[in-house]
Amino acid sequence: MGKVTGKCLCGDVEFEATLEKYEVTACQCSMCRRWSGGIFLSLDAKNTLSIKNATGLKFYQSSDWGKRGFCHNCGTSLFWQTTGNEQAYVTYSSLELSDADKQRLKLTAEIFVDDQPEFYCFSNQTQRLTGEDVMKLLAEHTPG
Ligand SMILES: [Zn+2]
Ligand SMILES: [Zn+2]
Repeated sequence: MGKVTGKCLCGDVEFEATLEKYEVTACQCSMCRRWSGGIFLSLDAKNTLSIKNATGLKFYQSSDWGKRGFCHNCGTSLFWQTTGNEQAYVTYSSLELSDADKQRLKLTAEIFVDDQPEFYCFSNQTQRLTGEDVMKLLAEHTPG
């Protein structure tokens, strides 16, 4: 997809990121649900997240390995980032995408599906990973 921009509802946080793929992941974990107010839909920005306006930016350290960036003025959930900034996932909702880019997006994966509430489900064909699956993948990709 290339370089994209994103911002919060009030504009006090603006960022840029480079997205390689048109793939959206839904995290069904209870932390993401509570934090985002819904389902956390995100795109992989790897280590390309660059903050252009940090006026409203705050981070909440939600685990030993991850923190959540949000705007403390308007409350928008913006991105999940590893503690050392090696990896970021930006929320679909905060991105400013062209219509052409929006049309190419696909929901390709759902993670922490064992944590999903029972009253809804996506009809998309996705790769569905449980929390245990995700932890296994993380362990394989994280040296040490
Ligand atoms: Zn804001
Ligand atoms: Zn989650």
